[in-house]
Amino acid sequence: ITGALVGASGAILSYIMCKAMNRSLGNVLFGSLNKEATTAQAAVTEEREVQRAAAEDAAFFMSQADEVVIVPGYGMAVAGAQHALKEMTDKLKEAGCNVRYAIHPVAGRMPGHMNVLLAEANVSYEEVFELEEINSDFKNTDVVFVIGANDITNPAAKTDEASPIYGMPILEVADAKQVYFVKRSMAAGYAEVQNELFFTSNTQMLFGDAKEVCEAIVKSL
Ligand code: NDP
Repeated sequence: ITGALVGASGAILSYIMCKAMNRSLGNVLFGSLNKEATTAQAAVTEEREVQRAAAEDAAFFMSQADEVVIVPGYGMAVAGAQHALKEMTDKLKEAGCNVRYAIHPVAGRMPGHMNVLLAEANVSYEEVFELEEINSDFKNTDVVFVIGANDITNPAAKTDEASPIYGMPILEVADAKQVYFVKRSMAAGYAEVQNELFFTSNTQMLFGDAKEVCEAIVKSL
């Protein structure tokens, strides 16, 4: 009975994951075998300039904002940044910001990955919104704080038919007035696709480990 329950749960989770990625199970399992290794190299050898921000700038800008949306991804899990992030959002709320979290169905490496980590950090369920609940609100958002996420925001999923993530719904963070991307480098995410959002005029990169960046912002706030 236990085996059947585990098997059924796995099948349901796989179905949810494939649906959210708009890919078949076969493509998820074996899709990377024939992939050319050009996109990851492109990200590593990227020569275009990006706008960089310091933690102090982000702290100041966010504390002045009315609406802030946090978009967590795999990097938040890697860094174990959820507690520092919660501390940061508490400080922002004290400063008068309305802070919400936007969760993509395949953020991280398993369905529900981000929800579990945020719950562990005692983030209120009422502040956590699924993609379809919050996606139309980004245009009314002052600051989006993308922490360790990449593919789930990548517009190539809508525009580039050759991209491995083509067809996957994305969080429309580019609609916000200001976007901060917290990551360590210009490296690509799981799908190994460069993210053109890094080069747009309303994006600033906050390079560093997600936990350390949050701690620096908390200190600044
Ligand atoms: P991504 O893998 O697209 O991006 C994660 C980013 O986090 C990387 O670009 C990396 O950049 C950054 N990062 C890694 N470590 C740190 C750190 N310590 N501090 C700060 N940043 C860090 O993750 P997303 O969550 O955006 O997307 C999930 C991807 O995983 C999608 O492509 C999805 O299809 C796939 N997937 C999801 C599954 C699921 O069920 N959730 C299952 C299987 C696959 P850098 O190295 O520069 O820091």
